[in-house]
Amino acid sequence: MLDAAPRDRITLGTTTVTYLPDGEAHLDPVAVFPSSGPDGWAAHAPYLDADGLLPVSVGSFLIDTGTHRVLVDLGLGAVAFEVPGIGRFRGGALLDSLAGEGLRPGDVDTVVFTHLHHDHVGWTSDVAPSPTGGPAGPARGLTFADARHLVDQAEWRHWRGTAEVIGPDPLAVQEPLGEVIEFARPGEPVVPGVLALPTPGHTPGHLSLLVTDPATDLRLLVLGDVMHTQAQVSETDWSFLFDVDAEQSTKTRLALLEDYQDERTLVAGGHFAGTVFGRFLPPRRLHRWAAAVHAR
Ligand SMILES: [Zn+2]
Repeated sequence: MLDAAPRDRITLGTTTVTYLPDGEAHLDPVAVFPSSGPDGWAAHAPYLDADGLLPVSVGSFLIDTGTHRVLVDLGLGAVAFEVPGIGRFRGGALLDSLAGEGLRPGDVDTVVFTHLHHDHVGWTSDVAPSPTGGPAGPARGLTFADARHLVDQAEWRHWRGTAEVIGPDPLAVQEPLGEVIEFARPGEPVVPGVLALPTPGHTPGHLSLLVTDPATDLRLLVLGDVMHTQAQVSETDWSFLFDVDAEQSTKTRLALLEDYQDERTLVAGGHFAGTVFGRFLPPRRLHRWAAAVHAR
């Protein structure tokens, strides 16, 4: 039985990657993975909570390269709501998690969005997103006002001008970002040591991030929403309810499993329960996951 992941850190040479919780969701596992079927979760029951729901971590990764502090995704924001038939969501802790590291928003110089779903953009401005899609009120300032904000260009174009409940809120997210947004170049570094990898499928311009450090061979892959649960490491054809292109999301998942199942690559699954850090193990019959064992 697992719950949402706590604040946690991995060190690669002189670079640190810290998971900063914002909140959590508890989802109906069959509703959000329709192809898992009624029996599909029997083999993955350890990833469910005491009520049989899938606990989903929601938060950000802080990458500190020594030169730059990069925040990957901005959580749900200060909201709590339930979606009938899907599950319940709660956010609001991101700035407290950041303060727990002795940092304030002004200490972050770069924000990168893996994609623009509502659970990744919640702290964009000081207007809380509206979970019901209603008006969010007048937009005020960006939370990370001193930071560059980057996203893939195809992702920005996909959502710009839309008002979908699961997308970026027009007033709380799109309007304040419209003035400042920059486009990450796929395959190129966002800052030295943090490479933007195009990993489409979940959304059209989805990015994962590959973190390297000059002092070590180790590297760390921030998955974004290529996977939402450790169960997808072996159940590679389970696509998430909100994958925009399910077939492409499976292709992307398999490609990452092939490319990053080596000893030197740590993997960070921001929605994983229990601990967000681990590794892909070389497959026996199926691809396998091993949680990172370390003291913070
Ligand atoms: Zn997500």
